[in-house]
Amino acid sequence: MKQAYDVVIVGSGVAGIAAANTLAGHGLEILVIDENPQAGGQILRQHCRVTDGFWEFDPRLERSGRTVSTQKIVQSLRPVPRPKGITCVHQARVLGIFPDRQLLVHVPDPLCPGSSVSGCMMEIDAGYLLLATGARERFLPFKGWTLPGVMSLGAAQILMKSSGILPARHTLIAGTSPLQTVLALEILKNKGNVTAILDENHFAKKLGLLPLLKHHGFLAGEGAMQMLSLMIRKVRFRQGVRVTEARGKNEVTAVVTADLDRKGNKIPGTSQIYSASALAVGHGFSPNIELPVQAGCALDYDADRGGWVVRVDHALETSVVKVYAAGEITGIAGAGKSFVEGKLAALSILEKLGKKTGPDRYAQKLVRMQKQQRGYASFLNQLCQVPASAYEAIDDDVLICRCEEISMGEIRKQIAKGFVTTGSLKKATRCGMGRCQGRICQPVLFDILLALTGQTPDQTGSPSFRAPVKNVPMAAFLHP
Ligand SMILES: Cc1cc2nc3c(=O)[nH]c(=O)nc-3n(C[C@H](O)[C@H](O)[C@H](O)COP(=O)(O)OP(=O)(O)OC[C@H]3O[C@@H](n4cnc5c(N)ncnc54)[C@H](O)[C@@H]3O)c2cc1C
Repeated sequence: MKQAYDVVIVGSGVAGIAAANTLAGHGLEILVIDENPQAGGQILRQHCRVTDGFWEFDPRLERSGRTVSTQKIVQSLRPVPRPKGITCVHQARVLGIFPDRQLLVHVPDPLCPGSSVSGCMMEIDAGYLLLATGARERFLPFKGWTLPGVMSLGAAQILMKSSGILPARHTLIAGTSPLQTVLALEILKNKGNVTAILDENHFAKKLGLLPLLKHHGFLAGEGAMQMLSLMIRKVRFRQGVRVTEARGKNEVTAVVTADLDRKGNKIPGTSQIYSASALAVGHGFSPNIELPVQAGCALDYDADRGGWVVRVDHALETSVVKVYAAGEITGIAGAGKSFVEGKLAALSILEKLGKKTGPDRYAQKLVRMQKQQRGYASFLNQLCQVPASAYEAIDDDVLICRCEEISMGEIRKQIAKGFVTTGSLKKATRCGMGRCQGRICQPVLFDILLALTGQTPDQTGSPSFRAPVKNVPMAAFLHP
């Protein structure tokens, strides 16, 4: 590993892989860094298991010029010998970005001079920096959400994809996310049982999808096929239902739900109890914005794109010169958009470097695909949104930040005292300052703030983050 590279890509998910492939073959030194043990990010993790080489997507993937589905992306991935000039470092975390694109990276033991079980720190200079750090799941807190057995939809997926372990023999699925059906199919494939899928949306809201069928028939069809396949296998669906409590002494044993009216408010007297040994629940995604914020990139707030997103121009350059962003961090829209943006960002960097990148019409085609992908995603993101009334209704004794053990009551108290900006509320409560550094609670705290104060995102302000943005052993800083 060197100390300086022409291009550093943070994240080797769909966007990072697509970018690296496009940049390869132009005589550049490229470093790809990812904290996961292998490439692939959230959706390709089990397909990219150990390889000495690299990965690329079949060029036919983009030939149609239409929206690209996750399934097609997965099918078109293939192993290739590592292209000349590309270095991949896994299990390495970027902890901070400093002026002039200097990265502070925690690298694993084998890359440290001498030996250190805790790994060590490296400073790396990036000529150009491409951030492709993806997204995380959002959730709506309820009583008992910290009980063992309660997990996010993605966590249940990762358990099966990475280790082949089912969340439990019977899993109850809840929330609002498009991941609900994907997870249910994965559980059935692994010979588990799905107790039921409880969707907070009413069917009528989903009819908004119909006008989108014209341009996104394939994607919508894929979703419809998943539903049909679950119905054939007699999986129970309930619409307009929210989890209000997970019960159990040492682990979840029962889940309480309430029916919702058309506005998403709980209807009194409608509670039902499900017996459950695992509950997987999620409410869509939020971009991972810690590193772009550290790098000084401007953000925009757009609920239909997942909340705070990195502001980019048509070339995917951020407000900071030579820092680019691609994939979920510029707005939640799924793997297809990440694929297209990874390529577009790489083409823009090549152009800046004066490298030949082929005809303009190729980039124009990618831009059209990016737009199409965004249109469909904006509807899905709307389906995932939780109404302000749901945050207002959270009981005082519900934990919001599990690391620092901050309850909803404490947050209400501090807001009433006048701590009504994102920064001041974080300092007043310590919410988000714990071990996970706000990974779970930071988007929730922001939504609570909006709901309880009625302010706009511009009034509350965007979140700030300091290095190190990820956990790292102190010993790693001491290693020479
Ligand atoms: C838990 C989860 C499950 C999902 N499952 C699906 C699914 O089944 N189907 C689907 O269509 N979509 C799914 N999605 C949506 C998914 O975000 C996109 O489909 C797609 O993976 C986005 O690609 P990406 O390259 O933008 O980001 P990702 O695939 O998320 O890749 C980002 C990469 O950046 C790395 N990274 C982030 N920060 C750092 C850092 N500081 N240092 C080093 N590395 C870092 C991460 O380890 C990750 O590998 C899921 C999302 C989540 C959060």
